Amino acid sequence: MDHLIPDVDAVDRQPELLAIRKSLIGLDRSEIAAALVETGIDEKAARMRARQLFHWLYYRGASKFEDMSSISKEMRGWLPEKFTAERPEITSLQESTDGTRKWLVKFPDGQEVESVHIPEEDRGALCVSSQVGCTLTCSFCHTGTMKLVRNLTAGEIISQMLVARDTINEWPSPKGERMISNIVMMGMGEPLLNYDNVAKALKIIMDGEGISLSKRRITLSTSGVVPKIRQCGEELGVNLAISLHAVNNDVRDILVPINKRYPIKELLQACKEYPGSNNARRITFEYVMLDGINDSPADARELVRLLKDIPAKVNLIPFNPWPGTQYQCSSNNAMHRFAKIVNDAGYSSPIRVPRGRDIMAACGQLKSASKKAPASVRHKENAASASL
Ligand code: SAH
Ligand code: SF4
Repeated sequence: MDHLIPDVDAVDRQPELLAIRKSLIGLDRSEIAAALVETGIDEKAARMRARQLFHWLYYRGASKFEDMSSISKEMRGWLPEKFTAERPEITSLQESTDGTRKWLVKFPDGQEVESVHIPEEDRGALCVSSQVGCTLTCSFCHTGTMKLVRNLTAGEIISQMLVARDTINEWPSPKGERMISNIVMMGMGEPLLNYDNVAKALKIIMDGEGISLSKRRITLSTSGVVPKIRQCGEELGVNLAISLHAVNNDVRDILVPINKRYPIKELLQACKEYPGSNNARRITFEYVMLDGINDSPADARELVRLLKDIPAKVNLIPFNPWPGTQYQCSSNNAMHRFAKIVNDAGYSSPIRVPRGRDIMAACGQLKSASKKAPASVRHKENAASASL
């Protein structure tokens, strides 16, 4: 009885309804079921419907209830009055000649974050933000000069993936090759300082009945929030990347000030104990190359010494300068010399190649376009290429 179904598009056009409708994105099955129970459905039916909705939201990628054909017409009729599965607005989408894509995603309160997809031949990494801004103040990082605006919700974290998959047209979740084959939590913000929302989002992304991305294809980067590292390993088991950047506390205190709270020794101990890491699943140590600060052969040798007994690989990141920064990127010679020492000691240590520069994805280029953009994009550019 199609005529009984309300005009879904008409509902979408009513702003007052938009404001009161609850987004299902970011809810796990039990939360969807609980939300349905609140509408008056009995618990058993709610559990069944929640499974169906979860499948449509995260396996099929549906954003409109009217497309969810396995759900009864009657229910499809009233769901849009109470709930939404809409995506955040894409404020801009740019594509580089090398295929790199960059989304500026705007949430209903006007806050924006960026996500970057760096494609390879038959796969690609999506770099996702966890916060708008960052409370930490790493001195080489442009985000560090911003105040934390706010944490992202689990739904906002997942939405970055949904938006990217809509654009790339990667629905339903492919069983085999994927263009978004990896996720790197290396966008704006410190993911372990928004752990609960990040964990919830990643659990939904890993769920086998939805997006079903393996924990082996997810990498979380942290500046070293030591108490959360173990929890992350135990609960999520994702790959870990550590923003080390210095081999002694004096230098690291300046580059990554959270080091004053959790110094190198404690950080490396947490790495040694990271559940699930082994020679096949190594911890990545990110090391930004700063001219005259941390790039000497002695630093490289000390790095090798520190990494002893840790299943590690090293990512050397050419520093992306930004207006007002006091740092400069190390010379090519210094970077290659450093890489060779680390490599000769048995650790893989590639120097990242920046991508997507023609779409102003490199650090500093974006400032005129969006005040918050440069740092986040810089991170994603680094991060996405690192994980592949
Ligand atoms: N907050 C987390 C994740 C986001 S930062 C963390 O710090 O690990 C992602 C990576 O970009 C980190 O390794 C960070 O140190 C690095 N980064 C920050 N500013 C940079 C810059 N100007 N040039 C190169 N890499 C930078
Ligand atoms: Fe925050 Fe990471 Fe930037 Fe440090 S490097 S200020 S932790 S986003």
